[in-house]
Amino acid sequence: MMDELTTDRLVYATLAVLLVAEATWPARGETSSMPRRWCFHAALFVLALGIGTLGYRLMALVLSDTPIAPPRLWHVVVVVLALDLTAYATHVLAHRYKFLWRFHRLHHADETLDVSTTFRQHPVQQLWLMPCVVVVAAVCGANAWEVGLYVALQLCVQALAHANLWLPAAPMTALGWVFITPELHQAHHSPEPHEANSNYGEVFSFWDRIFGTRTPPMPNRQIFGLNPPTGTPG
Ligand SMILES: [Zn+2]
Repeated sequence: MMDELTTDRLVYATLAVLLVAEATWPARGETSSMPRRWCFHAALFVLALGIGTLGYRLMALVLSDTPIAPPRLWHVVVVVLALDLTAYATHVLAHRYKFLWRFHRLHHADETLDVSTTFRQHPVQQLWLMPCVVVVAAVCGANAWEVGLYVALQLCVQALAHANLWLPAAPMTALGWVFITPELHQAHHSPEPHEANSNYGEVFSFWDRIFGTRTPPMPNRQIFGLNPPTGTPG
């Protein structure tokens, strides 16, 4: 199985490929200042990387009683599903409760969607997201490697979901039965509250089907952000 270094390389390789693809086959024109936006998102990325690395080290200590070696495949699948359900649930809560929305709305305030939007996350959110991940991981008997694998998968899928990238419709429709795709996630960044309050999935799209929060994909969306700009989603 992959080690920690390999999953890190997978994430950086995915980001590099998506950045080149965005520059080559963009789906939309940029609507706001690119250098300013990218500097802001890069700063948030560096901050998240620091917090994430610290959290991962602490988590490795908390989960140290669990096996160090990668466990069996069925256990990896259980951990990935459990952590993704947790990500879905915490995302729903971030939209339902005003206190949590106060931080999450930074992500939704972006009026231009591209790979960098993935990293437009308020660092304070980590204060409740990380404990949730640690508790669920401990309940599942997960080790830090399995959690690292899920985080890598989440980053890759979310980077694709935000990408400003022309993609063929038929494969994306097929992929959307299992994974979050750009067309599905774009509805989540709609200024219309009934669409923004849907498609909460992070990696797998079937949670939205199961819990009745799915908005069907609609191609060629051009308008994203908040309405009003400081508004709540509800
Ligand atoms: Zn959201």
